[in-house]
Amino acid sequence: MQVEQIKSELVNKLAALLQRSGRITEHLRDTPPSDWEELATFRENDEVAEALDDITRSEIEEIKHALRRMDTGEWQYCESCGEEIQHERLRALPTTRYCIRCASAREKG
Ligand SMILES: [Zn+2]
Repeated sequence: MQVEQIKSELVNKLAALLQRSGRITEHLRDTPPSDWEELATFRENDEVAEALDDITRSEIEEIKHALRRMDTGEWQYCESCGEEIQHERLRALPTTRYCIRCASAREKG
């Protein structure tokens, strides 16, 4: 299991997301135009930026959480049952916190 390799991939992804989120925040801080037609477009972009911002923020949190788990050595273990998470699953979904059994149990509620 190449934890270090996956970790550096996550670090790169985190950096890209932080950069993107910085750009989104910049847009949200822009002064609204005075022209009403431009203002309509501006507001639409605002909504898109806010939606993106939410997604980006939750992705950032997930990656930070995974990196913390890697540092403490808990990354390979399910947060729910404590069993080792399947390596295939970790490779495909490095930010997952649960083994496949717990993940599907949680999906069902
Ligand atoms: Zn589990």
